[in-house]
Amino acid sequence: PACIFCQIAARDIPSTAVFADDELYVFPDIHPQAPVHLLIIPKEHILRSVADMAESQTGLLGRMVFRAKLLAEEQGIADQGYRLVFNVRHHGGQEVDHVHLHLLGGQVLGSLVG
Ligand code: AMP
Ligand code: ZN
Repeated sequence: PACIFCQIAARDIPSTAVFADDELYVFPDIHPQAPVHLLIIPKEHILRSVADMAESQTGLLGRMVFRAKLLAEEQGIADQGYRLVFNVRHHGGQEVDHVHLHLLGGQVLGSLVG
């Protein structure tokens, strides 16, 4: 497939699997913006962006958020806090059109909206 995240999930492009199950794959961002910077993706290319989300996909997106919460605990950043980011389309800074959730933490993060 042409999609880079599909190729990562299929293990055609090497990455460190931080977590994998039947549905989700988690790997480190190649250009980390914080000491912990993971990407949580569905293995299948079923959704380009949150902007394309259907109500039937709330379960999938919820499991992505829940996986991020569990990984934050595993990575030891949950107590001090972290950030979850969905970049959406062009103005949101989305570069890869395969839906993904950023988990960022391990330091005080700069504020964009507060
Ligand atoms: P976004 O801007 O939300 O679309 O985020 C895409 C992210 O994917 C960026 O933070 C990139 O650094 C990251 N990225 C792109 N290619 C790779 C790759 N081969 N392995 C890991 N992360 C990648
Ligand atoms: Zn894809």
